Amino acid sequence: MEYILQGALINFKRKTMIRLIAVIISVALIPGVNLYPQNLAIEKNREMILETMHSISSHTLMEYVEELVSDKYAGRLTGTEEYDEAANWLANQFREANIRALGDNQSYFQKFDIPYTLVFRECFVSLHIPVNGDTILKNYEYVKEFIPGSTSGSGEITAEVIYAGYGITAPELDYDDYKGIDVKGKILVLEREAPVSDRNNPELFKKWRPYSFHQYKLDNAVKHGAKGMLYNYGPIGNPNNSYHPGFIYSHIGDSVISDLFSGTGKLHREVVTAIQEKLQPQSFRTGKTVTIKNTTEHHPDGKGSNVIGWIGGNDPELKKETVMIGAHLDHLGACYEIMPGANDNASGVAVMLGIAKALAMLEMPLKRSIVFIAFGAEEQSIIGSKFYLENPAFPTDKTVCMLNLDGVGNGTKLTAIAGKNYTEIWNVVEWANNEYIHRSIRPTDFPNLARPRLDAARFMWAGIPSISFSAYGTRSAYHVPQDNIDLITPEIMEDLAQMLFLAVIEMANRE
Ligand SMILES: [Zn+2]
Repeated sequence: MEYILQGALINFKRKTMIRLIAVIISVALIPGVNLYPQNLAIEKNREMILETMHSISSHTLMEYVEELVSDKYAGRLTGTEEYDEAANWLANQFREANIRALGDNQSYFQKFDIPYTLVFRECFVSLHIPVNGDTILKNYEYVKEFIPGSTSGSGEITAEVIYAGYGITAPELDYDDYKGIDVKGKILVLEREAPVSDRNNPELFKKWRPYSFHQYKLDNAVKHGAKGMLYNYGPIGNPNNSYHPGFIYSHIGDSVISDLFSGTGKLHREVVTAIQEKLQPQSFRTGKTVTIKNTTEHHPDGKGSNVIGWIGGNDPELKKETVMIGAHLDHLGACYEIMPGANDNASGVAVMLGIAKALAMLEMPLKRSIVFIAFGAEEQSIIGSKFYLENPAFPTDKTVCMLNLDGVGNGTKLTAIAGKNYTEIWNVVEWANNEYIHRSIRPTDFPNLARPRLDAARFMWAGIPSISFSAYGTRSAYHVPQDNIDLITPEIMEDLAQMLFLAVIEMANRE
């Protein structure tokens, strides 16, 4: 304890010293140039603003998460009635807080088409093990070892398993995982992503990028006559894929991979490394037989929605500009158990709603307009944000920034993804944190070259500065039924909501 106090004291002294030096430098050498915003809007109404900020409480944010993860919304898969119910709940929250509607025909909803697939309980993956001329079946454990493909066809298939690397046919790159190997009627084992990574070799990755999409791999497998797939994605759900009625697939983890490679004389790790290093396919017949059964129901004519509310600005010119706060409302639905998506992304919606209600209560006009948007179909190829950008409420060149909240309820630390790409916006957030909140938050740079994995990615491609906030630091669960309320640490949601509440006021009122 003492040691910690001492450390804190030294830290405090060091901080004070650094600040003192910073002040001396900015005053004496470069007056007017400072890391943090000048002429802070907040200074004039400081007491009232801080009082309103403290109306954002972790208890209330936790209640929003509890509401969104309840079984009645069935995991909020976009296209389902249950998603619409969750969207209605959010719209009612906006209405009660006097946040105005900004969707289609004066409603809160911006509708778009979204096909979706329901996954029911009767799903399994089993390996056929020959024993003395007989066969015994090894059934894999749900979640621990496999999760059914969220857009799988319905039915049962038993077939030989072929390892087909990344499932890529790229003539211009002189690469074909299917070359010289017949996969008709077979089950494929496929790797996710591409043999070249966007981080290690960004230039080369650009050529491989089109082949890194799940949809491409699945469509290419179907084109080659395969009947099923064991996708080496880890045993997690993911509805971001295409649907073919006769194609049955599941996501698998290490234990299934290791069984499929056993006795083949090959090690999975070495095979993957060989593909990556030589950029040459290593496809082969595993000699194993597997049964996959999935029970699903496809709905090609689904309709989804974004939920959009706003607070108008009061400056005759600046009110035409907007600061946006966004969070995806959807999650994976049931696959086959309900996926509550507490962290991903009930937490983000809760924080957005907390900020929205506090800003609506603020007894002070804001110059720019503020838009709150809950995206649909983030989990289904980031379709909701794409649709918004094709049909924006404010022109994209009048959108100052989009602050995206995705997975902000678990752990003790925060990341500001792309904070380093947009320093002007990041500096305002950092100022709010350093002056009032004091939470560990780290900005990263985000090249955003790969598949879009965040709503923020779409905004960045549209030229809109976008920082995406996420939390980390304790045990977490990603795209599995365990992403439930037990994992939520409400204090971090409160800190982030208060931090962005202050930052948004600054962004709305700066000249
Ligand atoms: Zn997700």
